[in-house]
Amino acid sequence: MAVHTGTVRVIEPATEKVLAELKEASVEDADRAVARAKAAYPAWKAVTPKDRANLMRRIAVAIDKHREELAQLEARNVGKPISDARGEVGMVVDVFNYYAGAPERLVGKTIPVAGGVDFTFREPLGVVALIIPWNFPLPIASWKVAPALAAGNTVVLKPAGLTPLTAVELAKIALEAGLPEGVLNVVVGAGRVVGERLVQNPDVAKVAFTGSTEVGRRIGELAAQSIKRVTLELGGKSANIVFADADLEQAAASAPLAVFGNAGQDCCARSRILVERSAVDRFMKSLETSVKALKVGDPLDEKTEMGPLISADHRQKVAAYLDDGARVAIRGSAPSGPGYWFPPTVLSPVSNSDRVAREEIFGPVAVIIPFDDEAEAIEIANDTIYGLSGSIWTNNAGRAMRVARSLETGTISINSNNSVRVTTPFGGFKQSGVGRELGPDALDYYTELKNVFLSTS
Ligand code: NAP
Ligand code: MG
Repeated sequence: MAVHTGTVRVIEPATEKVLAELKEASVEDADRAVARAKAAYPAWKAVTPKDRANLMRRIAVAIDKHREELAQLEARNVGKPISDARGEVGMVVDVFNYYAGAPERLVGKTIPVAGGVDFTFREPLGVVALIIPWNFPLPIASWKVAPALAAGNTVVLKPAGLTPLTAVELAKIALEAGLPEGVLNVVVGAGRVVGERLVQNPDVAKVAFTGSTEVGRRIGELAAQSIKRVTLELGGKSANIVFADADLEQAAASAPLAVFGNAGQDCCARSRILVERSAVDRFMKSLETSVKALKVGDPLDEKTEMGPLISADHRQKVAAYLDDGARVAIRGSAPSGPGYWFPPTVLSPVSNSDRVAREEIFGPVAVIIPFDDEAEAIEIANDTIYGLSGSIWTNNAGRAMRVARSLETGTISINSNNSVRVTTPFGGFKQSGVGRELGPDALDYYTELKNVFLSTS
């Protein structure tokens, strides 16, 4: 076995100080975690649906009990506002409670056939590897862990190197709540090392990944070698379409957090704001008021609405988008001093062919793209490799439905910028991903469909 001395140093983005140091997992550690998950699988699969449901509920209760400490840890590690972090832990509790209903409801079908009876079963896959990003570490872990466990799989979870802390806590909490040893394993290590090993390990049946389209493509390639099941939740460049007949004040008041929430590090960020030309001036005036009012600062301050970016590297990447003569129309505030701060920024007017409109910036930068009519709005919104979320603002119900049906995107809100609900499916069209999370449909991606025919002759 190779000697391994790597360390994962976790930095607090608001202070640039070291928050924690963890031992970095090696390829051998990843294989050991898979072996533990494999050994735990037969017993976990055999737990009765009722007992598995009860255990899921106990995990939800235990997470709720640790709500404040998890929220503080996540707020410090990601640099996200504490009020957001509390809401996110609340969602994690809801996710475990929601999927606690699944073990007893994984029903099959009976299908009319000649000469017998035919029925289907939803069966677990075995060991699943779950690879998650740094922007919403705990919620995204729960979207994968909860349905995977509910369906009877065992899990190896790999958090992002920048934000491994709450994943480790989640596994401890689940163990405390009574989850058997080996059912949920966490491996803290580099994506290119342990991440790739998990995708290649022959004992892993499925990989569920959230992260960049680039890494998603690599995972798809590696998984293809052994025909592993794969779900991918990738990037986005979503449109927020504002028609002149909308409640412009409301659209402008909610647009900033729809892109600057989580400092823009949100795959659902509505970072292309498409505004009907006749309404651009009025919309920009209201938008400026809301952007300037955004409270950017200490994540642990109750009133903060936007924190820093995740890292110095990432800030440099975001800043590079503003280098080449970008038209800055609105600029909000940001603290100086230590911390990876970046002010909320609106560029206007922008053409959909500009780089800032085509690439996912993943920072607090929004672009304003004017349009002349409904057809053009749809054409611009769909002119992207991505298709994750989006919004339509109009008071014309017919138009709202026409546009909603025309957009090539996975989740759309009308007169709202909400993207994610525990009970409804979430995922992307086009290069935003493969498969769905949350809601009842997620279970299809953590189970295999078996058909049994019984001859009656
Ligand atoms: P990333 O670089 O793709 O990393 C995501 C995860 O994959 C991390 O745990 C990372 O580990 C791991 N990883 C990296 N290279 C790998 C490889 N070759 N094989 C296996 N695993 C590997 O993404 P990120 O930088 O964390 O997050 C930003 C991106 O994620 C954005 O593009 C954003 O749109 C997307 N995102 C999408 C969603 C969604 O739901 N659709 C949600 C959040 C984020 P390390 O940390 O060790 O590198
Ligand atoms: Mg990365």
